[in-house]
Amino acid sequence: MEEEYRALTHLLGELSEAFGVSGFEEEVRGIIQSRVQSIADEIHVDPLGNLHAVMGRESPFTLLLDAHMDEVGFLVKAIEEDGFLRLVPVGGWDPRLLPGQTVWVRARNGRGYTGVVGSVPPHVQETEDRKKPFDWKDLFVDVGARDPQEVARMGIRLGSPAVIPQPFLHLTEGSFLGKALDNRAGCAILIRLLESLRRASVEGMRVVAVFSTGEEVGFRGATVAARRWRPQMALILEGTIATDTPGILPHQRVAALGRGPVLTTADRTLIVPERLLEKILHLAETKRIPHQIKTPMVGGTDGGVIHTSSEGVLTAVVAVPCRYIHSPRCLLRREDLLHTEQLVESIVREAPRIYREVGT
Ligand SMILES: [Zn+2]
Repeated sequence: MEEEYRALTHLLGELSEAFGVSGFEEEVRGIIQSRVQSIADEIHVDPLGNLHAVMGRESPFTLLLDAHMDEVGFLVKAIEEDGFLRLVPVGGWDPRLLPGQTVWVRARNGRGYTGVVGSVPPHVQETEDRKKPFDWKDLFVDVGARDPQEVARMGIRLGSPAVIPQPFLHLTEGSFLGKALDNRAGCAILIRLLESLRRASVEGMRVVAVFSTGEEVGFRGATVAARRWRPQMALILEGTIATDTPGILPHQRVAALGRGPVLTTADRTLIVPERLLEKILHLAETKRIPHQIKTPMVGGTDGGVIHTSSEGVLTAVVAVPCRYIHSPRCLLRREDLLHTEQLVESIVREAPRIYREVGT
């Protein structure tokens, strides 16, 4: 088991540190492709950058597994006279988290430059202004350049993508800190699932794993992937928000660390058919896999566009609970990863039966 743990966290660390702002997922895709290339029966990369890994032959039953590769980040929005950069967010960010952070801007030549998010220091602010949180218009990035010419020589231009870097860290035994765990956790689980399916072979279905792009900006990759494969059933693997932290009232708790995979009943984009959810709950109970139900109507996933594609797709969402998602640093627990992995694998193996029983 110890070795199992190490393999999973090593993979997650590599994925977490890779750069993958929506629309710029190449590095993440490269890591995934090198892992699944020799396992899958077919591999495709489509014009939107989705990586499709297909297991098994054409079948009347196609199961689509989706994990988005992209992460929230920024694009350079303006380059000012004195060499400062302004950023525009890609995906959901809280600007209050940003002052004082370092950012890593990817330049045209693929090189990266570190900068710091600056703001008006409290020493020169009026008393009233000091009480107000910073907004995007108050924040800028200082990469050390003197003027726009120097910025241009660095290869930074309007539209250059940026992230807040964070090395993947082991905290206490089994707790990890890293960036983009929403949704590199889902990517790691999906890669390992494909490895395990290869050993067991796929029966009675075609499994299409889609590592999708552009989720954080509106489920773009998943939209075309669903159209391409016209699946009968879909399972979305995600990282979702754990709110078991100080200052959050019991009724605001969306999910908690240590309680296993988080099951969606309904979010802003999808209501999971109750009979499908019941099958998944039953599987988790009979296999004694800890699990929890997410507070309804919070967030949205690729499932939103997949379930309404073609003639309608039976769709469920299973997520790893992560604290502080959409911030520069997320925290998760190893046991949640492993329990999510177990539940996902059980669902996939039982998918043809589940579909037969609840499908139409
Ligand atoms: Zn996500």
